[in-house]
Amino acid sequence: MISPIRQTGLHCPACGKRKLITVDTRPTAGGIRRRKKCNTCDFRFSTVETIAKMRKVR
Ligand SMILES: [Zn+2]
Repeated sequence: MISPIRQTGLHCPACGKRKLITVDTRPTAGGIRRRKKCNTCDFRFSTVETIAKMRKVR
């Protein structure tokens, strides 16, 4: 069974509860943008995950 929403380990910046869920994940030019929503107080924000540096290893 695949759940469409995933609970993250982050704390909500507004209420401090660990009830954040990722509602959307989309790749951008600089990295991966994730939209999060708090399940408790409905606070919404987004995070951007960037790849610092990658080297090809052969
Ligand atoms: Zn909250």
